[in-house]
Amino acid sequence: MADGGRARPNILVTGTPGTGKTTTCSLLAEATNLRHINVGELVRAKDLHDGWDEEFECHIINEDLVCDEIEDKMEDGGNIVDYHGCDFFPERWFDCVVVLQTDNSILHDRLSSRGYMGPKLMNNIECEIFQVLLEEAKASYAEEIVVALQSDTVEDISRNVANLTEWVNNWTPR
Ligand code: ADP
Ligand code: MN
Repeated sequence: MADGGRARPNILVTGTPGTGKTTTCSLLAEATNLRHINVGELVRAKDLHDGWDEEFECHIINEDLVCDEIEDKMEDGGNIVDYHGCDFFPERWFDCVVVLQTDNSILHDRLSSRGYMGPKLMNNIECEIFQVLLEEAKASYAEEIVVALQSDTVEDISRNVANLTEWVNNWTPR
C-alpha cells in the first residue's frame, strides 16, 4: 500500500515442533490465499544458517539472514509465517500470533513416530510442558494479538483453520 501499511494481515504460527504448525499453515494458506512461509524449509533451501548443531540435530539458524530474506514480503503483508521460535522477528510484522499447543502424551507419540528420540524428544516435550513458546510469544508481542490454540485432534485443526480464516476475512487495514 502506498502509505506503507499492508492490505492483508501477517500471521505468525508458532509452537513446539509437532504441534501442527505446518499442517495448519498449509490449510490456512489454501483457505485464505495468504502466502505460507515455512522458515525451517527456507533455512535449508537458502542456507540461512551457521552450520549444524550436533547435539540438537538441527541447523543453527541465522536469524538476521532469515529476517533479511523475508523482509520485503512481510512489509507487503499477506503472509503466514511457520516457525518454532518467535523472538527474533520485528514486532511490527505481525497482526496475529498463534501459539499451537498439544497434550504432552499426544505430542510424545507424534514426535516418536517422526523418529525423534533421546534428548531431542525430551527437549521438545519439556518445551511443551513449560509452555516455552507461549511465554516467548507473550514476551515478544502485544498480549492482545497472542492467541493459544489447542491442536490435539484433526477436529482441532479444522476448527482452528476455520476460525483463523474468518479472522483473516474480517481483517481491515489500519
Ligand atoms: P509442526 O509443523 O508443528 O512440526 P506438523 O504440521 O508437521 O507439525 O505435524 C506433525 C505431525 O503431527 C503430522 O504427521 C501431522 O499430521 C500430525 N498432527 C499435527 N497436528 C495434529 C492434530 N491437531 N491432530 C492430529 N494430527 C496432527
Ligand atoms: Mn513444520
